[in-house]
Amino acid sequence: MKFVPRRLQRTADGSRGKARWQDWAKGLTSVALVVWLVYLLLGVAADSVAEQISEETEVRWFKWVDLGDQPLEDPRFARAQRVFDALCRDPDLRPLPYKLVHLADKRPNAFALPGGLVAVTDGLLEMVDTEIGMAFVLAHELGHHQSRHALKRLGRTLVTRAALAVVSGAGDLSMLDNGLTLAGLAHTRSQEREADVYALDLVHRTYGTTAGAFEFFERVHALQGDGSRLASMLHSHPLTEDRIADLHARAADLPVTAPRDLSAPQAF
Ligand SMILES: [Zn+2]
Repeated sequence: MKFVPRRLQRTADGSRGKARWQDWAKGLTSVALVVWLVYLLLGVAADSVAEQISEETEVRWFKWVDLGDQPLEDPRFARAQRVFDALCRDPDLRPLPYKLVHLADKRPNAFALPGGLVAVTDGLLEMVDTEIGMAFVLAHELGHHQSRHALKRLGRTLVTRAALAVVSGAGDLSMLDNGLTLAGLAHTRSQEREADVYALDLVHRTYGTTAGAFEFFERVHALQGDGSRLASMLHSHPLTEDRIADLHARAADLPVTAPRDLSAPQAF
C-alpha cells in the first residue's frame, strides 16, 4: 500500500499572525472573572473557618504575638489606656483579653492583631487631642476584633497562596497574583467600613454621643498630601471622602442620649 501524505489543512494554531486586541481584551476579562470567582469562593470558605475559631483558640494560637511593647510614661498614653478600658467594658465585645500596646513610631497608626491586641503609635497619640476622637480610633480597632477581620485576612491569604502554589505549574501566575491582591484590597475597604460602623455604635453606647468622634480621620484626610508620613496609616485604612461622608450620615441618625461636650481638647 502506498503512503499518501495528507496535505496540511488550516489549523487552530494561533502562534502565527497578529493577535487582535479584542482577543487580548477577552482573555483579560476571562482571567479577571476567574480570579474574582476563585477569590470569592476561597474567601467565603476562609471566612467561615475564621468564624468557627473560639476565643480560647484564638488566644492560644496568637499568644506568641509580641510587638515589643515599649512602656510609655506619658500622660497621653495613660489617657488612651483609660479610654480603651472604658470601651472594653462593653458587654457586646467578644470575650478576648484586650490589651493596648504602645509603639515608638512617629507615623500615626493603629491596628489590631488576633488575640486581643490593639497597637497605637506615638504619632497617633500626638495627633488626637480629644477623648472622643481617641475613643473612635480605638473603637474602630475593636470593631476589627469584633468581626474577626485579622483572622479572616490571615485565612484568605493562606488559602489564596495555597491555591496559587497548587496551580503554580500552569506558567506565569503574576497576573493572577496581582488580581488576587486587588481583590484583597477591595475586601480590606469593606472591612474598614464595617469597623467604622461598629466603632460609631460602640462610641455612642459608651459616651452617649458621637460629636467630634471623627477628629482623627478628618485630620488625616486634610493631610493626605503628606504621603510619606501617612503612608502606613493610609495603606491599612484607606480614607475616602465617601467613607467620611458615610460616617457623618450614620452619626446623624444616632440619637444623642447623653449630651456631653467631649469635643473640647481639655476634656481628654
Ligand atoms: Zn481599620
